[in-house]
Amino acid sequence: MRELPLLLPNKGWDPRILAFRSADVVTVFAILTRRWTILVDTLYSRAGAVELARQALQAAALCHGGEAPPLLVVNTHADWDHAWGNQVFAGPEAAFPAPVLGTRECARRLRQAEDALELEAMQAGEPQRFAGASLVPPSLAFEGTLEIDGGDLVAHLLPAPGHVPGQVVVWFPEIRHLLAGDAVEHPMPFVQGPGHLKDMVATLEALRRLAPLRVLACHDRLDGDPCLIQKNLDYFRRVREAARAHGDADPKSPELDRLVDLPFEKLCDEVPREAWDFYRGAHLKALRAALAEVQGSGGQGR
Ligand SMILES: [Zn+2]
Repeated sequence: MRELPLLLPNKGWDPRILAFRSADVVTVFAILTRRWTILVDTLYSRAGAVELARQALQAAALCHGGEAPPLLVVNTHADWDHAWGNQVFAGPEAAFPAPVLGTRECARRLRQAEDALELEAMQAGEPQRFAGASLVPPSLAFEGTLEIDGGDLVAHLLPAPGHVPGQVVVWFPEIRHLLAGDAVEHPMPFVQGPGHLKDMVATLEALRRLAPLRVLACHDRLDGDPCLIQKNLDYFRRVREAARAHGDADPKSPELDRLVDLPFEKLCDEVPREAWDFYRGAHLKALRAALAEVQGSGGQGR
């Protein structure tokens, strides 16, 4: 299957922000500032990342009436759907050489054997889908926050741990728009493991305090509705309540959601049927993380 990014219609957000969806997998973004053509995430195949860069540069040239400002790439985090197209921008194979920004943790992930094994396995399973994907760490790694002054718009990269450690979101204070990476998601963000639920909720609370006018996440219906942050917080509150009410439930049970009276089907508002397996897994992870908090084993692991 050849999956190339498709420009999505703008549903009322700032026109300098372009959203590109690749199949039903992920949405990535380009921001057309005066100084930089910023790409937020690089997809998961060489062809996908090349097409993303081509379309973004074409749109930037049109927007600026001539030449496109140079590319600048941001990785929100190191997961496959966000960073496996980095080789198009950095390293010896770069078709569109550009600085790639990411956190130190993102860079560490893209150098580690575990992620290399994941790439190998996924390429073996779906060679066409992941054609040309490779692990290339950001060329500029940072810790904490970073500001990118685009001349007419400033992007703030803010820490947003929870889904994975070392994730950042992109916040534009002047227009109060938030590119939320995988920190916010419909119907729920994916908590990697028991110790990460606390970070996830703290991140969502911090994002809510920003009071964004538009929230665009990488796995979302992409209507820009900022209420998604509150919906995610409400979800985790219910998960924690369910875990507290059933503190002796077996976290390993595959039917855990039924044991704690929070079955996945009740949360499936507008979730496409083909995504149910994935999000049921996300729901079980969240419940296990909440139970680990109650049972006093919530401090460790992924
Ligand atoms: Zn993702």
